[in-house]
Amino acid sequence: MESGRAAGEPRVDDPEAFPPPEDTVERLWTPQRMTYVLRNDEGRVTKPKSKECPFCAGPKKSDEDGLIAWRGTHVFAIMNLYPYNVGHLMICPYRHVGLITDLDDDELFEFEKATTLAMTVMKEVSRPDGWNIGINQGEVAGAGVAAHLHQHVVPRWNGDANFMPIVAQTRTMPILLSDQRAAYAEAFERLAPDFRLPAA
Ligand SMILES: [Zn+2]
Repeated sequence: MESGRAAGEPRVDDPEAFPPPEDTVERLWTPQRMTYVLRNDEGRVTKPKSKECPFCAGPKKSDEDGLIAWRGTHVFAIMNLYPYNVGHLMICPYRHVGLITDLDDDELFEFEKATTLAMTVMKEVSRPDGWNIGINQGEVAGAGVAAHLHQHVVPRWNGDANFMPIVAQTRTMPILLSDQRAAYAEAFERLAPDFRLPAA
């Protein structure tokens, strides 16, 4: 974090400059944090130009461009471009379905297994003190992309609420995301090289 700090900017760990936000648990699951998928090129929130679902589009790109950390047989792990916290991953089925009840048994198994694998990867890469894991299913429940199921895997560290909103706004986030993806991808492959289910 220090390297991306311009002269005169306060330190991100300075509690005087950045008082902790209120109700951080509320903040963690507010759906407006997912609006990045609806931003246009100027950064304004709008309807997507392309009708293509971002979780269908992501796996069609390279791992680097799509921020893909791991590709399974039925599901994949993708970095959240606007994370709730540093290292926020999402587990998605390749198939465009909205609810966990839409998954078949193989998809469901790999979906949940990949979630535990993501935790193991995070333990190795960044040693979190805890996690928030969950799915917002349906727009009414706060899903930003309700049509395509995604499970959030958010690492937490003691005291992270003090810097979380700052990190989310820093200009160096794209670099952090790229580095984080690479670290995760290396750990996914090393820790579970034969994890993928055989294709049906
Ligand atoms: Zn989709």
